Amino acid sequence: MTPPLKTLVIGAGICGLSSAIWLRRAGHDVMLIDKDGPGAGASYGNAGLLAQWAMIPVNTPGIARTGLKYMLDPNEPLFMQWRYFPKLVPWLLKFMSNATDKGVRATVDGLMPLIADSVSQHEALTRGTAAAKWITNSDITYAYANRKAFDKDSYGWNLRRELGYIPELVEGPAVQEAEPMAGPNIQCLATLKGHGHILNPGAYCDALAQVLQEEGGTICQATVQDFDIRDGKVKAVITDRGTLPCDHAVVSAGIWSKELMTKLGLKVVMEAERGYHLHLKNPSQMPRNPMMLVKGKFGVNPMSSGLRCAGTVELGDHNAPLSNAPLELIRKNIKWAFPDLKYDEAEEWMGFRPSTPDSLPLVGEIGGTGVFAAFGHQHIGLTAGPKTGRWVADLITGKRPNVDLSPYDANRFG
Ligand SMILES: Cc1cc2nc3c(=O)[nH]c(=O)nc-3n(C[C@H](O)[C@H](O)[C@H](O)COP(=O)(O)OP(=O)(O)OC[C@H]3O[C@@H](n4cnc5c(N)ncnc54)[C@H](O)[C@@H]3O)c2cc1C
Repeated sequence: MTPPLKTLVIGAGICGLSSAIWLRRAGHDVMLIDKDGPGAGASYGNAGLLAQWAMIPVNTPGIARTGLKYMLDPNEPLFMQWRYFPKLVPWLLKFMSNATDKGVRATVDGLMPLIADSVSQHEALTRGTAAAKWITNSDITYAYANRKAFDKDSYGWNLRRELGYIPELVEGPAVQEAEPMAGPNIQCLATLKGHGHILNPGAYCDALAQVLQEEGGTICQATVQDFDIRDGKVKAVITDRGTLPCDHAVVSAGIWSKELMTKLGLKVVMEAERGYHLHLKNPSQMPRNPMMLVKGKFGVNPMSSGLRCAGTVELGDHNAPLSNAPLELIRKNIKWAFPDLKYDEAEEWMGFRPSTPDSLPLVGEIGGTGVFAAFGHQHIGLTAGPKTGRWVADLITGKRPNVDLSPYDANRFG
């Protein structure tokens, strides 16, 4: 009997955990390696939304004008670390060149197969395991100051409508009836029915790590530094704790994947969209279902351990420390939207959305090396992690997933 193939998965965020579990179920000898432990990166602190409706990228037509205006106004939810700007230019130019109707539609076409059935994919990943309890069904409500603000978002809503995502609108005094937590500054709600969220993303990652180990996979805390490639094929992964032989490797290290790709000679165009959360402990109010507070561009999600307000974008260096301005703006917008809300304390957190200029992840083999990419999921990594893991496991097992994977080509940056 031939021994099972040894596959090393680098990075234990949602993409790595999902890949490792599906690979294990496909019969591989799987080790999941993380420098800090499961759920240490963006997968810990995100807004927890299974965002099946988030197929519209940030760079829609007109972003150049609104983006610049936002960056110069501290009351708008887009921040720039100007000292990092020169390094950001190559990414920014490509990002802007995709801000056309054609570019957006290409991204939407690429994202739909990845995210549209996210809740089912999470359910399939966790069925019969203790991790299933962290997934719940819910609607998502976009909260706007008024109808005019909703109409300003018509480009995205029209595209969603074309795909069958029709919002139910509530306006005026009926808003507070529909969502008692909303204060008078919220005068328009747009709700999409039938989606889902995660009740505690950090605990969910821990539970998935447990599932992997119960099903026979192992977890190792180490920092991956390089790959041993011979005759064009990966033979081992080199870590600060020694060299680990393998038949295949999966790179699912979020924003840090970019550095690992340079070891394979690839210059992936990917930057961190730094995002923030305030996690409110013992809140006096909870929304009926998760919301997107459009003015502040953050999610407001009722979780098992409090109310999570997570979002905003700060373009900058993923090695630089947390900035206060985005957190202060989230605080201000919470007061603006929910004037009666009280809470004990707020956990402050920053994480990195790994974002490519075409808003599509890299999924697939790097050349013929036996190293597979599973990273670059920008704002929708929690949503898309389980599907990505399934595709990666299929590819490594030699099964062709029943979907066109060319939009996610891992070699598309040359
Ligand atoms: C504020 C905010 C809100 C968000 N809200 C949502 C949301 O509601 N819904 C949604 O779908 N997405 C959301 N996202 C995006 C989502 O969180 C990310 O896309 C997703 O978590 C990325 O997962 P990942 O597994 O690729 O990376 P990560 O979760 O970042 O994991 C990467 C892992 O790799 C490890 N690692 C790195 N380098 C090495 C190395 N050299 N050796 C070993 N290990 C290494 C790290 O320790 C880390 O654990 C949000 C993001 C932010 C910042």
